[in-house]
Amino acid sequence: MPANLLNMVRDMHSRIPIISGNWKMNTSREEARNLSSTIARLSSETNLTAEIVLFIPYVWLSEVSEIVASQEIIVGAQDSYPGPNGAYTGAVNTEMLTEVCSMVLVGHSERRTVFGDTATKFSAQITDALTKEMLVTYCIGENESEAADGETNRVLGRQIAEVFAGADGESLRNSVHDDPRRFVLAYEPVWAIGTGRVASVGEISDRIEFIRGELGKYSDRADEIRLQYGGSVSPDNVAGISEISHLDGALVGGASLNAGDFIDICGAFTV
Ligand code: PEP
Repeated sequence: MPANLLNMVRDMHSRIPIISGNWKMNTSREEARNLSSTIARLSSETNLTAEIVLFIPYVWLSEVSEIVASQEIIVGAQDSYPGPNGAYTGAVNTEMLTEVCSMVLVGHSERRTVFGDTATKFSAQITDALTKEMLVTYCIGENESEAADGETNRVLGRQIAEVFAGADGESLRNSVHDDPRRFVLAYEPVWAIGTGRVASVGEISDRIEFIRGELGKYSDRADEIRLQYGGSVSPDNVAGISEISHLDGALVGGASLNAGDFIDICGAFTV
């Protein structure tokens, strides 16, 4: 969407819809170029009144950022190391990321389960990214057994507290107070990610309402924080999801690897 139209929509809506594609560890260089340029072209042909984010592999960040720049598409990294340069073989820190993208994805369930990342790292990543003027998407969600045990709200409350409460949450609370658009929270039930088992509209709606209430414990601007749902979102199921009140968009994995499907999902959230 052209910048002037996007700014007009931003002025009219305190929570402009935001749809993010998480490419995970997929795409060759050529595929990344083609996918990003097709998304940019389709978004320019469709009057999407929504922000689009692409979380792509580190190695393609620089190139994709240039390809999509004219369409104001936000490019983000899927992880970050929250510390200064130094002897950390294999790591990429936030400072480096500021040169090639503007958002960081934090707390994705695959970071929690496959790589063993913990709340201490997530909190540090959020603080570091916000301090360096980057945007943040923070993911929370219950796993299958927590859902079966009726523990979902307790888990979500804990994951929110882990980044918002206490001294470690101070910079996040301040940042949300100054500009709530810089922090996006994605509710992603782990059992729905990549499984084709999308949560029902009723379930998502209840959880989103609960999450907004929890955010209210830490911020007087909780109503302005944008909330996404993630978990097997596709063009076939997005219509009902996009109508949930309090919900502002989606975090899309598998379907974001198809430009047409991804833009259709973005279109469903257009205001
Ligand atoms: C994700 O990667 O965050 C995700 C929601 O994946 P999928 O849409 O494939 O379930």
